[in-house]
Amino acid sequence: MQPPLADQHTCGVVGLKVLCRDDILKHFLNHSKLLMAISMKRFIVLTDKEYGLRVYVFKGVDRDYLVSPCSMCTCSDFIINFVGKKRDYPCYHVIGFAIAERQNRLSYVELDHSTLVAIISEIVFLGFSTRLRKIIKS
Ligand SMILES: [Zn+2]
Repeated sequence: MQPPLADQHTCGVVGLKVLCRDDILKHFLNHSKLLMAISMKRFIVLTDKEYGLRVYVFKGVDRDYLVSPCSMCTCSDFIINFVGKKRDYPCYHVIGFAIAERQNRLSYVELDHSTLVAIISEIVFLGFSTRLRKIIKS
């Protein structure tokens, strides 16, 4: 028998969105690292002024991560513990964008295309963007 439509959405790529379901959000609501990160404005939405592309970045202390909110994060905790099935809830970066958004505490930065590409390249290849920090400071 086919599962109802709603259940079909819990598998496959779309199913990863269910990471922001209520029980997981609840688990993170009083998570001290997450609350600290929100207050330090570490959840950043980069927008490409030319093409409208949006990239979600968690700006860490010494590492930055690309995040797909409620879906995926490039940090090792997400890969090792969640994807590796050692734990049934993801890293706080994945959930934090949803919580920060509810509290109106996301940071939005608009960039030209080449700057966005430079920042993403730094994060992917170096794990850290000095460019992003310079822009946020200015
Ligand atoms: Zn993460």
